[in-house]
Amino acid sequence: MNFNEISGQRQLTFMQQFDYIREAGTPAELQAAQTIQQELAAFGVDSHTEEFEIDTCQILEATFTVTEPYEKTYTIAGYGRCGNTPDGGIEAPFLYAENGDDISLSYARGKIVMVNNPMRPDMYQKLVKAGAVAFLTVTGDPIDEGVDRTPSARALPPMAETPIQGAALHHIDAAEIVTRGAERARLTLKQQSGKATSRNIIARIPGTDLAAEILTLTAHYDSVPAGKGAYDNMAGCAIIMELCRYFKAHQPRRTLEFVWFGAEEKGLVGSRSYVTAHEDELVHHMFNMNVDLAGQLIGGTVVGVTGDAAICHMIEYMAHEIGMGMSTKNQIWGSDSNSFAWKGVPAMTLNRDGYGMHTRHDTIELISPWSLQRSAQLLGYIADRLAQIPVMPFPRQIPEEFTNQLNRFLNR
Ligand SMILES: [Zn+2]
Repeated sequence: MNFNEISGQRQLTFMQQFDYIREAGTPAELQAAQTIQQELAAFGVDSHTEEFEIDTCQILEATFTVTEPYEKTYTIAGYGRCGNTPDGGIEAPFLYAENGDDISLSYARGKIVMVNNPMRPDMYQKLVKAGAVAFLTVTGDPIDEGVDRTPSARALPPMAETPIQGAALHHIDAAEIVTRGAERARLTLKQQSGKATSRNIIARIPGTDLAAEILTLTAHYDSVPAGKGAYDNMAGCAIIMELCRYFKAHQPRRTLEFVWFGAEEKGLVGSRSYVTAHEDELVHHMFNMNVDLAGQLIGGTVVGVTGDAAICHMIEYMAHEIGMGMSTKNQIWGSDSNSFAWKGVPAMTLNRDGYGMHTRHDTIELISPWSLQRSAQLLGYIADRLAQIPVMPFPRQIPEEFTNQLNRFLNR
């Protein structure tokens, strides 16, 4: 691979077109999709979109009041996609269960239970099993002021059953509630669900003599409603765009498919739609290379590999060859690579640590051309080696423990 053809500055210039919030299912996300397609067309790559439906929800009412031994109403953000409380809300004893450990939750039955962020499906299910009647999560930082004192909108990932409702509460209020010894509280949550359309953008660079084998390079382009998502994840979009440009000029032996996913932040909805729609073709997919969280300067690069441990050794060896610091973790990963691994395709997510994910501070001001360039070179090197090697150097299988975990997370 010719590293001189990878430009961090060009990636940053591309990213400057997306300095807005791109929540899935909104006109802003559609606008971003169109801009991605225009960029591809500008260097001669055809693309198409594949639409899918997402569940939306609008919070109509969310109130939380401590009723005993004092009375005070706190500002909260209701969780979308967990239904409505009964008329008049739920009034019950209050419990702070910290990280939702088993000891704390053994006292949860019949209570409104507050736990620390993040709220994931496994924690939700633990709360339900423990008999909680409603939940609160703690969000924000103790140094927050002004607009940062208001928890931002949030929703649970899609789940089959949501018997209890919940909301997010700010850190400072959560501390006050525990300090003042809240014993009983009331939560009211009303929401309305609907449907919206999101889409994936797909561009294919056909291979030469090994064209029947497909490698994917992927990144999600939607953002959370709270922030513009430069680090999470327009930077990943820029990195794979730069590589698409490179491989257009240097045709690989294997086929490279580039996918910009919509609705990742809604629970990997775009990638799940992709692996379902392309299920028949997946037998030809050898490896997924996803990027999620990238582009900030101060940080370190971690590649999460959901596949055989041999892939970790291979990637570390390749990084050694080009002298780029990074490390690997062999596990499932909370991003679109999970959808591929779930369907049996070995997958990785390139991830760089950074600041401000899912907040209003995730802006392009913190994005560095130096970082974009390095990540694109590292990922490009891996993709190029795998696109050229005569036989894939690792087994096309997912270790059983990962399959079991993925089934728990994704078969909902
Ligand atoms: Zn992300």
